[in-house]
Amino acid sequence: MYWKNSMKDRIIGHLNQQRPGPLMILVGGMHGNEAEGVYAIERVFEQLKEYTINGEIIGVKGNLAALEQQRRYLAYDLNRCWNEAHLRYLRSEAFNHDKPEDQEAIALLEIVDRYAHQDFTTKILADLHTTSAQRGSFVIVPEYYADHPVIEALHIPVVVNMEYFLKGTLLNYGCDRGYLSFAFEGGQIGSPEAVDLHVAGVWSMLLEAGAIEDAPASLKEEQADYLKHLAWDLPNRVTAKSMHVVHEGANFQMEEGYFNFKEVSKGEVLAHDKDGPIVAPQDGLIFMPLYQKEGSDGFFIVDLDE
Ligand SMILES: [Zn+2]
Repeated sequence: MYWKNSMKDRIIGHLNQQRPGPLMILVGGMHGNEAEGVYAIERVFEQLKEYTINGEIIGVKGNLAALEQQRRYLAYDLNRCWNEAHLRYLRSEAFNHDKPEDQEAIALLEIVDRYAHQDFTTKILADLHTTSAQRGSFVIVPEYYADHPVIEALHIPVVVNMEYFLKGTLLNYGCDRGYLSFAFEGGQIGSPEAVDLHVAGVWSMLLEAGAIEDAPASLKEEQADYLKHLAWDLPNRVTAKSMHVVHEGANFQMEEGYFNFKEVSKGEVLAHDKDGPIVAPQDGLIFMPLYQKEGSDGFFIVDLDE
């Protein structure tokens, strides 16, 4: 049986002091090779001990089984499975749900659905990730949330329209259930800076949402300065324009030297696979170039918003 992880193992921290305020669900490790979000959430909960909390803050691990093995996923990608058909499968008692990710998804689904019916000033679902490319701090959010104060408080590039290319993400499901829901990418996998950036970002969100009753006034500014400093040479907002999908067995290999938001020209060779070179379909900025073996998103082309 894969059903060995209890809800207790999944919860990183949980604070509720019966005061009105926002709900903040923080998810780390939806991809098991991206543990930085988990470390950051652990640190934030440690720091929160001395404060009075408004609303409710809950930190959860995404893919417990994959985190243990430091793999992106075991049977299927936990952050690409939140589509109608798969949700029906997960909710149906006619199946055994014996794939490792089935149990992970069912547990997360229970948490997200439970809070979807409850009243808070704001309901935030922040999914913390890290990427395999350099300069990987940004937030992915549907365009209608791009100007939300909590998103702006992150002071990192905002990437919109990704939902047209990435299907079945937790953030899409969260938005459907009424959450201000987004993916918060904190930097490169395995880097200590990514943990620091996630910590600063989570604090900024908590402060902006009004989740901390007795935070000193200077704290918000300190976090903002730190985040701005890291993202000073990055674009404010970009729109996703196209995506290269990597198929099973394609032997996809990114060319060296690409990083998030690097300018590319139409026709430029960006990668190779078994069928030959793969070129940029248009001018723009390359986004999330894939420098790891697992994953089906080769790269995206995004464009600056004027
Ligand atoms: Zn990820």
